[in-house]
Amino acid sequence: MSDLASKVRSLLRPEILALSAYHVPDSSGYVKLDAMENPYSWPDDMVEEWLVRLREAQPNRYPDPSCSRLKAKLREAYGVPEEADLLMGNGSDEIIQIILMALQGRDATVLAPEPTFVMYRQIASCLGLKFVGVPLREADFALDMDAMRAAIETHRPAVIFLAYPNNPTGNLFHTDDIAEILQIAPGLVVLDEAYTAYAGRSFMPRLAEFDRLLVMRTLSKLGLAGLRLGFLAGAKAWIDEFDKIRLPYNVNVLTQISTEFAIEKRSVLEAQVGLILQDRQYLYEELGRLSGVQVYQSDANFILFRLLRHDANQVFRKLKDSGVLIKNLHPSGGRLVGCLRVTIGMPEENRKFLKALANVLAS
Ligand code: PMP
Repeated sequence: MSDLASKVRSLLRPEILALSAYHVPDSSGYVKLDAMENPYSWPDDMVEEWLVRLREAQPNRYPDPSCSRLKAKLREAYGVPEEADLLMGNGSDEIIQIILMALQGRDATVLAPEPTFVMYRQIASCLGLKFVGVPLREADFALDMDAMRAAIETHRPAVIFLAYPNNPTGNLFHTDDIAEILQIAPGLVVLDEAYTAYAGRSFMPRLAEFDRLLVMRTLSKLGLAGLRLGFLAGAKAWIDEFDKIRLPYNVNVLTQISTEFAIEKRSVLEAQVGLILQDRQYLYEELGRLSGVQVYQSDANFILFRLLRHDANQVFRKLKDSGVLIKNLHPSGGRLVGCLRVTIGMPEENRKFLKALANVLAS
């Protein structure tokens, strides 16, 4: 081992050395259906208005550290109950990191059903926390409540993450199951509502019922992925503590101005969501027509499907060779063997994907 490599090994924590970096493939030139983005750009007149608004930005000054104007707009637009406070994040990834950094001791356990959003496990591992994944039911990816009850009892998790709807499976967990988890959990329960715009369901109105419930949101999937804005709603007692860890200027001035503007114009984004929902139904039906494909119903802006007779790695590669980039989940193993995930794109992109997939399956 070189001197530098051994220095790196001796100075850094073993859990960091053991991790693999979150991999983002180069997508230039592809029909990009891998990352749950809203594929639609803004109408020209909206872009012009936005650029005028950006003139307000003072790049020489630090941004408002408390995002007060933006917070007020978010509260109003997303029905945050009056008694809840907000924590702002540079994307919801950062919120997950802040919550986990605040936990007491290195013995704290983080629990989530799996498969789910990989960053819960990734960030917990990074911080040296114990992570427990509880397999979802095989047939429908619902919560396996016997397994959840047993795991909660055994591990007494400090935090449970529930993605609602779940990524990469696309389903909403049953409300009664979530309510039961909220009753029996000894610690925090974070409902990650990243895809709420496509599901129309939320626990936000129920925040006052459960003082250990936190509702996490992001504007990424609605159409603002490039701006990086996430937020967490919950009791002041929690938010005040998390806010001590948040770096003072984590939401930059361009993001603050642009997200305020986008929230004012949210009817445009909501109309785009409407188109995506129509296309989700179309894609679901068309995928269901392909033989050897098992397709799962989705409440999000992507669809998970399983290849029953083909090698998923090969199909993924051939789709990529034909210019279509989706997400290969087969390497994750477990419940995701044979699975691929496609984000709903624009109609033309969806058709290209379906055509390419049909060709690959037939070849
Ligand atoms: N939660 C879930 C369930 C997700 O799928 C994602 C993005 N893939 C995120 C959170 C993170 O979103 P962002 O950091 O863009 O806010």
